[in-house]
Amino acid sequence: MNKISRKGFLKIAAAAAMSGVTAGALAACNAAKDSAAASSAVSAPAGSYIPGTYEGTAEGISSTVKVTMTFSDSAVTDVVVDTSGETASYGAAAADQLKEQLLSSANGEIDGVSGSTITSDAVMKAAKSCFAQAKGEATISSVQLPTGDETDWLGKEPDIDEAAITETIDTDIVIVGAGNGGMFAAAYAAANGLNFRVIEQNSAVQDTRHWYGAIDSAAAKEAGVPATDKAKLLSEISRYASGKCDQRVVKTWINESAAMHDFMRGILEDQFGWTCEFTSGAEAAWPAENAEHNTDYLYPVQEHNYRQSESESGLQRNEALQQYIEELGYSIDFKTSLAKLEKDADGRVTGIIAQSTEDDHFIRYNANDGVLLACGGFPGNPYMMEQLDPLGTSVTTACSYSPSDKGYGIRAAVWAGANLDKEAAPMLFDRGIVAPGVDAGYVESENSFGGKAFPGEIKQYNPGTQPFLKVNRNGERFANESSPYNDIVYAAAHQPGRVYAQICDANILEDVKRFHTIGCSAQTRNAGAEYLQKQMDNAEEKGCFFKADTIEELADKLGFTGEAKDTFLATVDRYNELYDQQNDEDFGKPAYRLSAIRKAPFYGCWLGASLLCTEQGIAINEKGQALDNDNKPMPGLYVTGDMSGSFFANNYPCLMAGVAMGRTLTFAMKAIKQMAGLEK
Ligand SMILES: Cc1cc2nc3c(=O)[nH]c(=O)nc-3n(C[C@H](O)[C@H](O)[C@H](O)COP(=O)(O)OP(=O)(O)OC[C@H]3O[C@@H](n4cnc5c(N)ncnc54)[C@H](O)[C@@H]3O)c2cc1C
Repeated sequence: MNKISRKGFLKIAAAAAMSGVTAGALAACNAAKDSAAASSAVSAPAGSYIPGTYEGTAEGISSTVKVTMTFSDSAVTDVVVDTSGETASYGAAAADQLKEQLLSSANGEIDGVSGSTITSDAVMKAAKSCFAQAKGEATISSVQLPTGDETDWLGKEPDIDEAAITETIDTDIVIVGAGNGGMFAAAYAAANGLNFRVIEQNSAVQDTRHWYGAIDSAAAKEAGVPATDKAKLLSEISRYASGKCDQRVVKTWINESAAMHDFMRGILEDQFGWTCEFTSGAEAAWPAENAEHNTDYLYPVQEHNYRQSESESGLQRNEALQQYIEELGYSIDFKTSLAKLEKDADGRVTGIIAQSTEDDHFIRYNANDGVLLACGGFPGNPYMMEQLDPLGTSVTTACSYSPSDKGYGIRAAVWAGANLDKEAAPMLFDRGIVAPGVDAGYVESENSFGGKAFPGEIKQYNPGTQPFLKVNRNGERFANESSPYNDIVYAAAHQPGRVYAQICDANILEDVKRFHTIGCSAQTRNAGAEYLQKQMDNAEEKGCFFKADTIEELADKLGFTGEAKDTFLATVDRYNELYDQQNDEDFGKPAYRLSAIRKAPFYGCWLGASLLCTEQGIAINEKGQALDNDNKPMPGLYVTGDMSGSFFANNYPCLMAGVAMGRTLTFAMKAIKQMAGLEK
């Protein structure tokens, strides 16, 4: 599509507005595809509009949608809708209907076209901008932030004209993102009476993520947990990242997470009366039987969680923190999205430019002490997923978490000169349940950003993590099923369709209890029969879970035919043999994690990865400062959470539950201390 540059467009629009000339000049820039004289235009009183042609743009599924409207002084006389860059079968096909709807709209409000919701919404937004310009309400048209594309995830930093920045806010600290990291940073800043602002693109705080890891916290001491061998822990995190972390950054979490927990409990326990649920020891540790050759494997787990208390109060932790800062007189600037970072001549980050998602006006936030970016990773951005993590993308079947984490913070930091980790580190759980025949990887999706989504309808099928027999589409077993969550999904990268079937029998609940899996997969054994039944029923309703009286019938329901079916039946026989001899000669799974498949009903389903979030982020130092491409700290810029790097690589140590949140919260607090000069 032939796009006009943002700056060019703004200048034309601003000049048109200032000179009183109608924006007819804009029409010359339009890549108008289709136009029709208004036959059914709604009339307004004479003098309602400044006659002329106006253009509005908005982000659609995979392109910038453009609407050009010509106004007389009392009516719309012509409409051009350009959705040519949209997915052909959805958005692009809707252009004619959308144009007709706009011709009979008095203000840009339209019903839209069913099946093309995102394109319709974009067209409506762009049309409303045309109406606003025609009424003289907007001198600057709707200007959209760049999204990247299928070949260039980074895109270009927006070039925002000064005339478009219609509001300025001076403060000391700007926190971008009211999520798990941002809200904790805000709480710490509020507790210290600092002058700060939090901006958030959405209209509410992000969902709370519950378990966070803190080392030798007060909770651990109260529970009588022996002091952690910190050197051993450091070595384990580094081993998991294949050495591709900065051990000094990891040490900040190890050494300062106890203080982070102290601050958290000071609010949630002392002020909200909540109780911390602490898990450690045998309930949380990777069973020794799985780690005969490395007893330090996944060492240690010290999880903290306020979830029980939340359910009693009706508040989630992030909402409690919001209430906490509001009671101290602060607020969150919702519906405000980061557009770019600003730097002075010496390279110091001096603030940000943000854009209102309500009316698109730009706001300059000047930050005397610094900016903390806490915008999350990029699970909601297929361009970044495909280009930065092709392997993780290829094995994923489900993800509907954090769709608004589209990596914008990472892109803004890179535009400003920050250094992005070179390796992906997705959080992949083996719980992406799908119907037979569905491959892992993106499918076309009309209502998703970038026009793509993962096929699974269920976010996580928790029993997927249980170490039952798993086979590929040829009916063959291909890996030891007793492993951290993401090992089996990576093993499936080399199998047909990158998915696998999980098989068990009527003894599922007893088997699961014996398996004693840890982390959040412990829910399957702890929550009991009712929970398990609910998970299975829900998946069955969606056509992804199958019950059968015989193993042959299960094979048919799972879609095995011909040779693959014969192989599948032979694999089940072989697995029963391994169970009987209590020795997995084939893949070395610990005996207590073998199970018999003999008692009806038999159960089966197909699985791939569920993508929770991404952990590939901007390189930081031990103080949480962003690093540039020479690994030098960038003055005034701090990063935390999923958009920060230097900690994980390749994958996420999912059985050291809570490390992601632990480091997110620890570095959130650290950044505030640094910016406010509360520590050196
Ligand atoms: C279902 C699920 C369960 C999880 N459970 C755990 C767990 O128990 N323990 C654990 O350690 N980890 C867990 N994780 C991982 C954990 O959620 C992340 O590591 C953590 O949330 C990171 O926090 P964050 O502040 O970086 O991102 P988020 O909490 O996602 O917050 C990012 C915020 O930034 C906002 N934002 C994004 N872009 C912009 C922009 N341009 N302008 C303004 N605002 C913007 C977003 O809207 C969002 O509110 C879980 C993840 C999922 C999906």
